[in-house]
Amino acid sequence: MSSARVDQFIAGKRTCESAFGGAAGKTHAVINPATGETIAQAELESIRSAEAAVQAAAEAFPAWSATPVGDRCQALFRYKNLLEQHFEELATMITREHGKTMAESRGDVRRGIDCIEFACAAPTLMMGKTLPQIAVSTSFCRTEDKSGVGIDSTVDRVPLGVCVGITPFNFPVMVPLWMWPMAVACGNTFVLKPSEKVPLSAVREVELAHQAGLPSGVLNLVTGGASVVDHLITHADVKAVSFVGSSRVAQHVYTTAAAAGKRAQCMGGAKNYMVIMPDANQDAVIEGVVGSAFGNSGQRCLAGSIAIAVGDAADWFVPRIAEAARKIKVGPGGEAGVGMGPVIDQQSKERILGFIDSGIRDGATCVLDGRAPAVSPAGCFVAPTVFDKCRPGMRIVDEEIFGPVLSILREPTLDAALATMNRSRYGNMGVIFTSSGYNARRFKTHAQVGMVGINVGVPAPMAVFPFAGWKQSFFGDLHANGEDAAKFWTESKVVVTRWM
Ligand code: NAD
Repeated sequence: MSSARVDQFIAGKRTCESAFGGAAGKTHAVINPATGETIAQAELESIRSAEAAVQAAAEAFPAWSATPVGDRCQALFRYKNLLEQHFEELATMITREHGKTMAESRGDVRRGIDCIEFACAAPTLMMGKTLPQIAVSTSFCRTEDKSGVGIDSTVDRVPLGVCVGITPFNFPVMVPLWMWPMAVACGNTFVLKPSEKVPLSAVREVELAHQAGLPSGVLNLVTGGASVVDHLITHADVKAVSFVGSSRVAQHVYTTAAAAGKRAQCMGGAKNYMVIMPDANQDAVIEGVVGSAFGNSGQRCLAGSIAIAVGDAADWFVPRIAEAARKIKVGPGGEAGVGMGPVIDQQSKERILGFIDSGIRDGATCVLDGRAPAVSPAGCFVAPTVFDKCRPGMRIVDEEIFGPVLSILREPTLDAALATMNRSRYGNMGVIFTSSGYNARRFKTHAQVGMVGINVGVPAPMAVFPFAGWKQSFFGDLHANGEDAAKFWTESKVVVTRWM
């Protein structure tokens, strides 16, 4: 068991809580979920580090925000190239501390790099607007020709100051990259608080940014739990907070940060529906549903965890999906041929097993039971599980499981499926599989979700599009990524000019 502390990264270097006079407080054991082995200990109560990180970011802000946006982006161009060189290193780190397969870890890094590329468009995205001659200054006008004495108006987009990002465990490299590259490209300075379950790849991500030439203090990282989050989101010097995690914490962070006068965007949990129409391409359905329900061991906010089979689609869908799920090889994510890794930790495994027990108790038909996979019990493994004949009101239908459990409901029509889906308190994404343009259009029009997939199991928007859900899946206004991100990380300033 390792007692090595996870480093903080503040003012351009690796450091630790004791360097700022903090006492050794509670820690969280970072484990390899495939083996149960402890890799390191992450500080949970590093308030001194949080304070030092905000201070370093505040000191770096004047010079960084005055650096031309093109120069700020040059650091990100260099960083993108450096990440390509360290691609396998980062993917291997993710698999070790998170458990996902190497293919999934590579996807985690690749989608993160997409966000850096997008942030390099900050010079365009930050551009303001101008409307010349919006009025005439008659008091100083001594000629008939008023064109020289007009009043012009512009709106500039300017950086906010010190910004904070708080991230979940399920995409250790990508989710931080949703936040800080665009924030710093827009001229802000940043404090990242990664999940205490997977902090090691985030520390490396931040360290590589400095190797690429990001000046000291522009990007800082502090490990910690709830007390560190609460300290950061109410700090007088912090202007904006971006959060990704469960809905309960998202709502807490949103309300607390907003009450303290911060701008906040908080992405929360999900319970995503996939509607299977009888006319769908069956092979595409099975491929799409398997990837959506069991990819990343079901630990995705875009995981399709409910399938609604419409009409007689259940006749072929239920046996085929159970068969495909049974074939997924469960094991350590670093092993060749493994299709699904462990879940994040034993606590999560116990929670998922509890959900499966509840599904059986509530009368759903368990067509594939993943409670006892033939993998080392020291690892946090749960195999794919499929329930049929589920109904709203069952916990496996109403609550986010965040594990490899697919619940199948049956409805007679598309409209009945839409009504059931729209009763969910979540609204992250919804998917339809169909060969009918009419069905697809009806679904897209009426689905109360932020992201829609049409014959696509995981409709993850590329970085140029905004990412976020509706209802309890999102608290805020401006979404992550896309043009929304440049707006979220900047403030507008209107300038009205007249020359005598
Ligand atoms: P989590 O809410 O437990 O933790 C997220 C972050 O909040 C971590 O950094 C954690 O340290 C911090 N935190 C935890 N409890 C806190 C508290 N009481 N007060 C303040 N901060 C606290 O989430 P998780 O288990 O790491 O991640 C899984 C969740 O994230 C799932 O619900 C998933 O759907 C969601 N998620 C959502 C999106 C999205 O875009 N909507 C993306 C990825 C993950």
